[in-house]
Amino acid sequence: MESALDSVTGEVVEAEQLWLLDQVDRESYACRGCGVKVLPASYRPTNLVRPYFTVGSAGAHRPGCDVDGEQRLVQRGRQQRVTTSHDGFPVPYPSRLVLNDRREIADRATDASREGRRDAPVPPSHSAPGMPRNRTVGTIRQICRTFINFPYDRDLGLSLPGVEADKYYAAFKKLKWDDMLRYPEPRIFYAALRWAKPVEGDAYMEIGLDAGQREGGKLLVGHRVRIEWAGWSDARKNAVRKEIEAAREEAKQAFEAGQKQKKAFVFFLDDQDGADAALFRVLDHRLICCIVDEISYPKF
Ligand SMILES: [Zn+2]
Repeated sequence: MESALDSVTGEVVEAEQLWLLDQVDRESYACRGCGVKVLPASYRPTNLVRPYFTVGSAGAHRPGCDVDGEQRLVQRGRQQRVTTSHDGFPVPYPSRLVLNDRREIADRATDASREGRRDAPVPPSHSAPGMPRNRTVGTIRQICRTFINFPYDRDLGLSLPGVEADKYYAAFKKLKWDDMLRYPEPRIFYAALRWAKPVEGDAYMEIGLDAGQREGGKLLVGHRVRIEWAGWSDARKNAVRKEIEAAREEAKQAFEAGQKQKKAFVFFLDDQDGADAALFRVLDHRLICCIVDEISYPKF
């Protein structure tokens, strides 16, 4: 599972957020759908694959758990539209990004009040009739996964701070593979990561994208994403660095396994640098993520 409920705060935590923690409390996570205890896995700095949550070999979801069903829904959503005129989209989906600093997991990690509240009840999160279909999220990652997982449902509503477009299909913009264009409106931009390692310094980390000015297929001037991290904690820097590294490794494995369409895609909510068309700047770690997958564009 890519996310779970933090039983202390009752908030949804993405597995990648475990990279932000100095110490992971293995006992404090529960399934979003049924509340059963789940275990964080692969979150150590030495792990090559990205973190995830699992019920473990001895565990099981409770009957009717949404999360269990969500995986089947994603398989279906990749092939066909799952929104119906009668019921709409069948499960709650991320429809709004709110950058609320109270949600910051890194800041909570050192919070002494975390101790002693372990037995706080897990709020019920079952879908009930009439339950809102919308979910507010604190980073772009789940939004990007929804964009990838449901290519036939990209007319779902989406609210992003500073972005006028209010549907998934309009809020995302793929950088043109073979041209260096101006993108004046803020969007969630995305492009494949280049194989070269990111450049790192005290002030920023810069990632090369496989999009930009080309000649004969060869990239002459590529777009770059500069993550301006001068004021960030080490934990935040590490989390971003780790996600890029994990994605490079996953993309390599996919390539070696012959899955040529699977690529490491960098997603970032931003607008272009005023002076340099090649450059995007990201100032907030919640506004960038890297996901290895295949992105499809169905014709209607
Ligand atoms: Zn469950």
